[in-house]
Amino acid sequence: MNSSDTDQHWMLYAMQLAAKAEAAGEVPVGAVLVKDGQVLGEGWNLSICRHDPTAHAEMQAIRQAGLVLKNYRMLDCTLYVTLEPCAMCAGALVHSRVQRLVFGATDLKAGACGSVFDIVRHPQLNHQLEVCGGVLAEDCARQLSDFFKKRRAEQKALKLQKNAEQTEMTQPQISATADTGDAAS
Ligand SMILES: [Zn+2]
Repeated sequence: MNSSDTDQHWMLYAMQLAAKAEAAGEVPVGAVLVKDGQVLGEGWNLSICRHDPTAHAEMQAIRQAGLVLKNYRMLDCTLYVTLEPCAMCAGALVHSRVQRLVFGATDLKAGACGSVFDIVRHPQLNHQLEVCGGVLAEDCARQLSDFFKKRRAEQKALKLQKNAEQTEMTQPQISATADTGDAAS
């Protein structure tokens, strides 16, 4: 495999991890940390389930790799993630000394690897990562937008259902008023 095939291979792997997040009702983002073709850590979004704003896919992968390596430095490793990391995760990548970052979709609202900030390549920090963005970008972006589309539809259906329930609750009251009217007359 050449390096672009390798990147696509691991990005597909990260997308499978993202699907696990989606199955748990979480925003589908997946991440895997790889060294010499070996998985050292992997993760997916768990912020809602764990009540933990730091439980992003990248953080899970880094934490797991630290336990595997028994080291908080992750030298010569590549992190693959389906969405451009946020400021927190980008900061953690700098602390962990990950060599290379490969991400799928860009995050124009919160991305900290070139979009809003560029923490992973900031010249004043003592470590810079090699960055390769846009690998399987369309597939990664579709996985996310399909999720949000589905969630909006579910929320709309829930709202409609609630309205229907309220109508059902209102109707017996109306007939009760009519009965009372009859009884009074
Ligand atoms: Zn993050």
